[in-house]
Amino acid sequence: MKLNNKTIIITGASSGIGATAAFLFASSGANVVLGARREKQLEQIVGQITQSNGNAISLAGDVADEAYARALVELAEKRFGGLDGAFNNAGTTGDMSSLPDMDSDNWHKVVSVNLNSGFYAAKFQIPALRKRGGGSIVFTSSFVGHTVGLPGMGAYAAAKAGLIGMTQVLAAEHGSENIRVNALLPGGTMTPMAGEDAKFHEVVRGLHALKRMAEPTEIANAAQFLLSEDASFVTGSAMLADGGNSINKF
Ligand code: NAD
Repeated sequence: MKLNNKTIIITGASSGIGATAAFLFASSGANVVLGARREKQLEQIVGQITQSNGNAISLAGDVADEAYARALVELAEKRFGGLDGAFNNAGTTGDMSSLPDMDSDNWHKVVSVNLNSGFYAAKFQIPALRKRGGGSIVFTSSFVGHTVGLPGMGAYAAAKAGLIGMTQVLAAEHGSENIRVNALLPGGTMTPMAGEDAKFHEVVRGLHALKRMAEPTEIANAAQFLLSEDASFVTGSAMLADGGNSINKF
């Protein structure tokens, strides 16, 4: 029970890595506060966790909305009495195109959902963690923009790299308050974001030293590590869980 009695916000919890993390963290004893836009999916996940004697609650909304970040923290405090951690994981690739061809609206949307959301999350989560005497925040970044430049993903790369810079500053600002902040960098992971094109999956598998893509559980496990006391001396890191994607050249 690595997260016993910890109250943890998970965004992007309606599918993929976030949904898997919701089940994993709840089975590790956490009270989970689930966020994403799709209310019905969130309610189904809450229902399944509750049926297995776990503790979960959800609130649907857009992570690019500052008021939603505040509402998730308020919900955690009202329902479970406080906040101990957050897996700020919602993200979107947006439309793929080279930067000169990219529509400005797409740029702003991708940066809002992937990066501005991190600022809003931190703005309300840090004071809540402070009240508890500490805690842990994890942002889902990516190998894209940190170790790999993938054509067509300029806005996504900029936003995900921005999260790493913000992680470092937050870790430095709040380490003395026993608040740890880390970025998690998954490699290609079998979620709805990766689509269903078998040929594309084959190419992506080949990018990794392990010659496969990750299962969502493998990324959720890494997030759980960062949120748990097992990672008590880990802060400010950009932790790769990328199957060797970043070091692989063949
Ligand atoms: P996914 O599409 O299954 O999940 C994304 C989640 O974010 C969904 O719950 C979606 O509803 C939510 N979301 C998207 N936009 C939102 C918004 N504006 N407001 C609220 N919620 C929103 O994909 P995933 O692979 O599970 O993605 C999780 C995270 O992992 C993302 O940040 C993604 O960028 C990152 N990531 C994924 C991969 C991969 O290969 N799948 C690789 C590296 C990083």
